[in-house]
Amino acid sequence: MTPNFDVVVAGAGPGGIAAATVAAEAGLRVCLVDDNPAAGGQIWRGQADSAGAGSRDARKWMQRLNASGCTVWTGLRVVSEPAAQMLRLEGQDTVRDVAFGRLIVATGARERFLSFPGWTLPGVMGAGAAQAFLKAGFEVSGRRAVVSGSGPLLLAVAAGLRSKGARVAGIFEQAPAAQLAQFARTLARHPGKLLEGVQYQWQARFAPYRTGCWVVKAEGGEQLERVTVSNGRRQWRIDCDLLACGYNLVPNLELPLLLGCRVEQGLVHVDEGQQSSRADVLCVGELTGVGGLEKALLEGEIAGWTVAGDRARAAALRVSLRRQNGFAQGLAQAFALRPELRSLPAAETLVCRCEDVSYGALCQQDSWRAAKLQTRVGMGACQGRVCGSAAAFLLGWEKHEKRPPVFPTTVAGMAAEIAEIEK
Ligand SMILES: Cc1cc2nc3c(=O)[nH]c(=O)nc-3n(C[C@H](O)[C@H](O)[C@H](O)COP(=O)(O)OP(=O)(O)OC[C@H]3O[C@@H](n4cnc5c(N)ncnc54)[C@H](O)[C@@H]3O)c2cc1C
Repeated sequence: MTPNFDVVVAGAGPGGIAAATVAAEAGLRVCLVDDNPAAGGQIWRGQADSAGAGSRDARKWMQRLNASGCTVWTGLRVVSEPAAQMLRLEGQDTVRDVAFGRLIVATGARERFLSFPGWTLPGVMGAGAAQAFLKAGFEVSGRRAVVSGSGPLLLAVAAGLRSKGARVAGIFEQAPAAQLAQFARTLARHPGKLLEGVQYQWQARFAPYRTGCWVVKAEGGEQLERVTVSNGRRQWRIDCDLLACGYNLVPNLELPLLLGCRVEQGLVHVDEGQQSSRADVLCVGELTGVGGLEKALLEGEIAGWTVAGDRARAAALRVSLRRQNGFAQGLAQAFALRPELRSLPAAETLVCRCEDVSYGALCQQDSWRAAKLQTRVGMGACQGRVCGSAAAFLLGWEKHEKRPPVFPTTVAGMAAEIAEIEK
C-alpha cells in the first residue's frame, strides 16, 4: 500500500527536522525520511535524543518533532521518483513508495576530498569521516594525528581528536591568513559563530594552526607513517599515524537534480519561501548554500511555513536568514580553494578508488561523461560522491547528472524500477 502525505521531507538533519516539525504542527500530514538509523543529520548525529542527551538545540527540536505528530521513517533512502509526486525509498530489506503533495528536500552536504599521493593508505581519512567516527566512539587515544584541508570543520575535528586522547601534531589550513583575517572581522556580526570558533580554537590550542599550508603526500608501509606538508615555497615532513583531511563541504545535489530543480553555481536556486524551480519541491539547508546549523534551521522553518500556507510567518524569518546567508557567502570566500591544489595528484594517483581510475587516465578525457564511459570513473559503490567532486575541482568538469537511482540500489529496487518503465 502506498501511504500518502501532504508533505514528505527527505533528510532528517536540522533543516529537515525544522521543516517537518513546523509543517506537522500546522496540521499537515507529514513524513520525514532519512537513510541513517536515527534523525539528526551530520551535526546532531547520535545526539538528537529527546530523552535528554545532546545539545540544547538538538533536544528542543527532537522534543518538538516527536510531539508534532510527524511520521518519521529512518533507515530508508530516497532513490528515485518513479512516477509524478511519488518517491521510491529503499531500506536494507525493503522497497517502499510514498506519494507526496509537496516535497521538501533537505539532503545536506558531504565533504570534498582531493586525491594526493598516498591518500589510500590506512590511517588517511576524510576530516568529516573522522568527525563522524569520533561521534560513533572511534578509538584514537595515543595516536599522533595531522588535520589538513580547508574549512571550519578542521578545528572541530582537531578538538574532537584531542578530547579523545590523540596528539594533534598540526592543523594545516590551505586558505591564506589574509583571507581568514577578513572573514574573522565579519564574524563580529555573528557572535554565536564567533564564540563557537573561539571554543574550538581553545580546545585545539595545543596543536599548531598553520594557514597557507596543505598536505601534499602521505607515506608509510602498511599504514600511514608520515605526511609531507607544503606552504608553496618549501616542504617538510611530519610523523603521524592518522591524517584527517577534507576540503570544505559540497551539497548533495543528486536528488534535487533528479527532480528537475534548477541548480546554479553548485547550489539549488530557491525563492523567498524556499520554493525551487519545481512548484511542488522546496529545498533547504546546505543544498542552497553551505552555511551551518542556524541557516539550515531557519530555512527549514521557512519551508514549513510555506507549505502550511503562512507566507507571513515565513517572511518574518527572512530577516534573520539574510544574516546567515551573508555568513555562508563569507565562508565560501574565506575558504575558497587555491589553484595550486589542482596539482596535488600525480599521474598514477587514484582519483576513483571504487574503480581504480588514476588521475592520468582522467586527464586523457574531456568531460565527466566521456571519462565515465571510457574509464568507469564514478560507477562504483559511491557513485561518484567522492571522485565526482574531486574531478569537478581538479579538472573543472560539471557533474550534473539526472539519472535514477541516485544511490546504488538492490536487485529488488532495480526490478521495481524496470517494472515501472515497462508499464
Ligand atoms: C561530514 C560532516 C561533518 C560535519 N560536522 C559538523 C560539526 O562537527 N559541527 C558543525 O557545526 N557542523 C558540522 N557539519 C556541518 C553541518 O552538518 C551542517 O551545517 C548542518 O547539519 C546542515 O544541516 P542540513 O539539514 O542541511 O543537512 P545534514 O545535517 O547533512 O542532514 C541531511 C540528512 O539527509 C540525509 N540524506 C541525504 N540524502 C538522502 C536520501 N537520498 N534519502 C534519505 N536521506 C538522505 C543524510 O543522511 C542526513 O542525515 C558537518 C558536515 C558534514 C558533511
